[in-house]
Amino acid sequence: MNKSIAKNLLKLKSDLPNNVTLVAVSKTKPVSDLMQAYNVGQRIFGENKVQEMTHKLALMPKDIQWHMIGHLQTNKVKYIASFVSLIHSLDRIKLAREINRQGERHRRIIDCLIQIKIAKEEEKYGFSIEESFKFLNDMKINPLPYIRIRGVMGMATFTQDQQQINDEFASLEDFYLKYKDVFGLEVLSMGMSGDYPHALVRGSNMIRVGSAIFGSRAAH
Ligand SMILES: *Cc1c(COP(=O)(O)O)cnc(C)c1O
Repeated sequence: MNKSIAKNLLKLKSDLPNNVTLVAVSKTKPVSDLMQAYNVGQRIFGENKVQEMTHKLALMPKDIQWHMIGHLQTNKVKYIASFVSLIHSLDRIKLAREINRQGERHRRIIDCLIQIKIAKEEEKYGFSIEESFKFLNDMKINPLPYIRIRGVMGMATFTQDQQQINDEFASLEDFYLKYKDVFGLEVLSMGMSGDYPHALVRGSNMIRVGSAIFGSRAAH
């Protein structure tokens, strides 16, 4: 049993402002590790692979909220549509249409965040700022009824340059503040183990923390 998981989690939680939601990113970690976090009250877990998430869903208590944080293939939406609590990685229109279609099949509205590219490094996934505005606007005019866009998600460049991290988070905060009332956004998901203090300064209200809770992951 890894006792430090509970300790890490409780310490992190006690340092967080009340309005900030903690997503415990449990990708690659065994169910026994997740249960250490569950047993001290954690109910929101983030995974980046559909198969791993459904595997853990089957083995773990039913009151867990599962967040999909990783790139989502269109043909895999069907496996999570019945239970996923929040998809952070809505990054293209085609995916939005498929989530909507699967939501309709399961008669549930699926909460999503749009993933926005803020890093200077060549990021593979995410809408640009301009595309994000256009998408939100199109959704307002012509809604996909089984999707609810609850907010935005972004990742800063993996760098030691603190100013750059701060600037990237600031650009997402600007977008969020500018459009939150127009489009009814309430979630600003930014910040991971290495950079969440910066994200909190920039108004993040949802952080996704893995290694600072569960320990480092094996490279894969
Ligand atoms: C893995 C991952 C995290 C957590 O990363 P840590 O550095 O371990 O905290 C957060 N967000 C996304 C999208 C991830 O893929």
